Amino acid sequence: MECIFCRIVAGELPSDTLYQDDEVMAFRDINPLAPTHVLIIPKRHIAFLSDLSDDEVSLIGRMVGVANKLARQEGVAEKGYRLVIGSGEDGGQVVPHLHMHLLGGRRLSDRLC
Ligand code: AMP
Ligand code: ZN
Repeated sequence: MECIFCRIVAGELPSDTLYQDDEVMAFRDINPLAPTHVLIIPKRHIAFLSDLSDDEVSLIGRMVGVANKLARQEGVAEKGYRLVIGSGEDGGQVVPHLHMHLLGGRRLSDRLC
């Protein structure tokens, strides 16, 4: 298994895990870009957002639900936070396992990119 996020799901690589259920897992980003930087991923390997079929998009809703819960837990919900999903090369996606970034704890740039 070469996918690093699949290896984290399998417990083969360590992670600072904040949440998991049967479908979704969340852990701290190893190279945080903000005081709160959490990755929310599906446990099942899905490489790109663009691979999601129409009947799978509810998975993103579950990931948003987990992100909202963790934003409250991290104490950033009130001041605000940003959820980011990149898909593919131009989307800036480096790890080819679908993931959502939860960023908060500082004022993020007004520029989206
Ligand atoms: P992206 O650029 O959207 O593909 O984001 C991938 C993110 O995964 C980056 O922010 C990395 O810092 C993070 N990352 C890579 N390896 C690990 C790891 N082993 N544990 C936690 N985060 C990681
Ligand atoms: Zn994977």
